[in-house]
Amino acid sequence: MAIDLALPSPLQAIEHPLLLQKQVNVWVKRDDLIHPIISGNKWRKLSANLKACKNQGATQIVSFGGAFSNHIHALAFAGQQLGLQTVGVIRGEPEYANNFTLSWARHWGMQLKFVDRNTYRLREQAEFLQQLQQQFPNARIIPEGGSNTLALNGVGEIISELKRQTDFDFLLCPVGSGGTIAGLINAADKQHKVFGISVLKQDGYLEKQIQKLLGDATISSQWQLFNQYHCGGYGKFKDIDLQQMLEIQNALNIPLEPMYSGKLFIAFFDMLKRDCFPKGSDIVLLHTGGLQGLGGMAQRRLIKEEQWHIPAFPKTG
Ligand SMILES: *Cc1c(COP(=O)(O)O)cnc(C)c1O
Repeated sequence: MAIDLALPSPLQAIEHPLLLQKQVNVWVKRDDLIHPIISGNKWRKLSANLKACKNQGATQIVSFGGAFSNHIHALAFAGQQLGLQTVGVIRGEPEYANNFTLSWARHWGMQLKFVDRNTYRLREQAEFLQQLQQQFPNARIIPEGGSNTLALNGVGEIISELKRQTDFDFLLCPVGSGGTIAGLINAADKQHKVFGISVLKQDGYLEKQIQKLLGDATISSQWQLFNQYHCGGYGKFKDIDLQQMLEIQNALNIPLEPMYSGKLFIAFFDMLKRDCFPKGSDIVLLHTGGLQGLGGMAQRRLIKEEQWHIPAFPKTG
């Protein structure tokens, strides 16, 4: 069975007084619209991995994530649709099994295996992975967030689509594990500047991760990470940040969430105010999806349900 995806994802021009004042043209690449359930960049990263699974005859996929992970949510649904069993190794307590994200993952047939923080830290170590492979011999193991070298090709398709949709000078995206931006850097041309907004506090770690994912690929694009827009760290944000995200969401009429796209849009408007983009620039902001995360944030009362666009998913099977 194939999954019905809306590709290429739409490129939407946005309007805002500040864009007129600074004389820049801005579009949002709406990867949040690729599919109502599968989150944008998580699908891009999974697509090549899922194909490889099928080609290798693997019947099962094991991967890792936190209790509210967009990757786990997308993987569970994709696995069900493609007839692959899925196992999620989840950081945290079994109580999380009933939260918004993991209830849906279970609904789509994912088996959950909860591990404590110390065990979860081993997720990239060879010995731990070997044990896991023995436990699930027919499985292919995909790293947290789906960020491996195969994922770069899937993400690179964003650039191929964009080149058919518009010319652009700058492409901005949020950065968590670095897989998405690495795929963009890898596929972009020398006239493209790829700017990553780190959603976590970091000091050089992500640059190294990105280099590692790129390996010895020949890079013609220019890229840079911006580290001052994490709003307090991974998964964190303050009331004042939420207010600003809501203002932007409502002004542009584009649904946002506070972990990734909210931080990206705050960063973009701040950089615009600081004249980071020359007059006449063509700028694309990549909306990486992740709106399912809003469900868990509302359950934890981190956000007010009525202010955000929390997706409702159809029951399947
Ligand atoms: C995972 C995720 C990111 C970060 O992508 P990386 O490839 O981990 O850097 C950005 N946006 C959303 C919505 C995500 O779910």
